[in-house]
Amino acid sequence: MLNGKVAIVTGSTSGIGLGIAKELAKLGADIVLNGFGDAGEIETIRKGIAREHGVRVIYDGADMSKGEAVRGLIDATIEKFGRVDILVNNAGIQFTAPVDEFPPAKWHAILDINLSAAFHGIARALPQMKKRGWGRIVNIASAHGLVASTHKAAYVAAKHGLVGLTKVVGLETAGSGVTCNAICPGWVRTPLVEKQISDMAAQRGISQQEATEELLAEKQPSLQFASPEQLGGSVAFLCSAAADQITGTAISVDGGWTAR
Ligand code: NAD
Repeated sequence: MLNGKVAIVTGSTSGIGLGIAKELAKLGADIVLNGFGDAGEIETIRKGIAREHGVRVIYDGADMSKGEAVRGLIDATIEKFGRVDILVNNAGIQFTAPVDEFPPAKWHAILDINLSAAFHGIARALPQMKKRGWGRIVNIASAHGLVASTHKAAYVAAKHGLVGLTKVVGLETAGSGVTCNAICPGWVRTPLVEKQISDMAAQRGISQQEATEELLAEKQPSLQFASPEQLGGSVAFLCSAAADQITGTAISVDGGWTAR
């Protein structure tokens, strides 16, 4: 379905981004991996995806907190593969604290990585997508792009901003063959959430298992995590012809979190 297409997935050395990269590779897209981590492990991931799916896979370690580096990632991809057809803005970080204690440096880092990186990537990738009359931009927002929780001022602000950016780009590209949508996951068990489970267990003096059950019970009515593979499937759907008229919208994959 995606043979001959080139997909960049930011923050794809781990978690949801890796699940998305694997799913797009399975459908035949060439992949640009991005994110941090151990060089040897990343090389193993890169080779593994290329071998399993017979696609070209490269890794670019551009730092998504820096606008020029984000634009450089797009330029480098065009230089190597000649095009960017699919841009998945997924890289993200979390930090929790009450708003009056929130460290300004953390605020800026979250806004830069979780929101501004998408702006820079979209701005750079869009002209060549429009020229070819086909493109898919998928912004990995969050249930926190639609509703709030305490102690997540920067994350909730950034993710709401990302949903807003998605709407504007959806409008500006309507009818061009390019679509722009957000996916809003609820809890997905990745390193980003493992840390929140561990913090909760430590703060309340409860086990990891109890903290996991509480975390789900508080927000996610299904009481089940969504998986990186399922998020990959959601992105694949948005890349399919069935989704040609879906743009500027936010799709929840949250086990019912935002239904109540
Ligand atoms: P994760 O920590 O497993 O992965 C984050 C990825 O981003 C990693 O590859 C990491 O190296 C990369 N990254 C971090 N900072 C970067 C930077 N400055 N430059 C380049 N790459 C950087 O987290 P995850 O849970 O897979 O999260 C992926 C996205 O999904 C994030 O945007 C997150 O907000 C969102 N999300 C996650 C959940 C969840 O429950 N896990 C829920 C909703 C939304």
